[in-house]
Amino acid sequence: MTIQWFPGHMAKARREVTEQLKLVDVVFELVDARIPYSSRNPMIDEVIKDKPRVVLLNKMDMADLNKTRQWMHYFEDKGFYPVLIDSKNGKNLSQVTKAAEIVTKEKFDRMRAKGLRPRAIRAMIVGIPNVGKSTLINRLAKKSIAKTGNMPGVTKKQQWIKVGTSLELLDTPGILWPKFEDQFVGKKLSLTGAIKDSIVHLDEVAIYGIEFLQQHDLQTLNKHYNINVEADTPYVEVFDAIGKSRGMKLRGNEIDYESVVELIIRDIRNEKIGKYTFDSLDLLEEKDEE
Ligand code: GDP
Repeated sequence: MTIQWFPGHMAKARREVTEQLKLVDVVFELVDARIPYSSRNPMIDEVIKDKPRVVLLNKMDMADLNKTRQWMHYFEDKGFYPVLIDSKNGKNLSQVTKAAEIVTKEKFDRMRAKGLRPRAIRAMIVGIPNVGKSTLINRLAKKSIAKTGNMPGVTKKQQWIKVGTSLELLDTPGILWPKFEDQFVGKKLSLTGAIKDSIVHLDEVAIYGIEFLQQHDLQTLNKHYNINVEADTPYVEVFDAIGKSRGMKLRGNEIDYESVVELIIRDIRNEKIGKYTFDSLDLLEEKDEE
């Protein structure tokens, strides 16, 4: 699903999430483990405020686990409770309920001390499009919940889904916009399939992808395409090498760059080359210092 975000949509989406927040004890902020920074909504802290939060790093099956661990520490340091999950294959999902119990413990202890009747923890999922919100809801619900209303601005009657005995989840996730102002973020969102091809320059996305691989996994890049480039080989020469190696040529023996670009993006998106985490914590530190 791709949504064109306009200021009106953004304001409405934010209002809806703010309303839903009143109903819950805990928020599950869903991010893509391959881009734990780029797949977050830029205003998420202002929206969620101090509501207990569990950050779910989804699609762990596609990410670089070493880097993911660093990101877990990053979220812990911020005071959130991070959990690594794979919603598609149902991995680590029992941790989601446990995390919700931990972050709401104080509140529920207080309620118990006041003599209030015990009830299930109420939770909602929030995230940008395509991070896996519906997949996770369906997994937790152990059935298919219709995607109706899974669009900002489309309201429907909300219902609670029982997840085990201790948790109830709103069946409609909160959908917020990505950080599309940042050109690097846009390329990473595209490389992970979070945004539609027609709203980015695909050649720039492929150049970003190739340069990332040259810096981070040169050997695998060379092996995958049966080429022999260096870390500092200009991207045009890398494209040439891939085009030659794969026989992607036009009439007159020219390299078919369009096909090369599509191939690179498809291979990275579908994990054909390797599992990568594109957001690095170093970049974030530089940003914080600015
Ligand atoms: P939503 O827009 O946030 O509701 O995202 P969806 O639930 O529709 O998921 C977007 C895409 O990501 C779908 O193709 C899912 O199959 C895929 N997906 C969701 N979770 C995972 C995961 O943990 N691992 C992998 N590999 N794919 C996932």
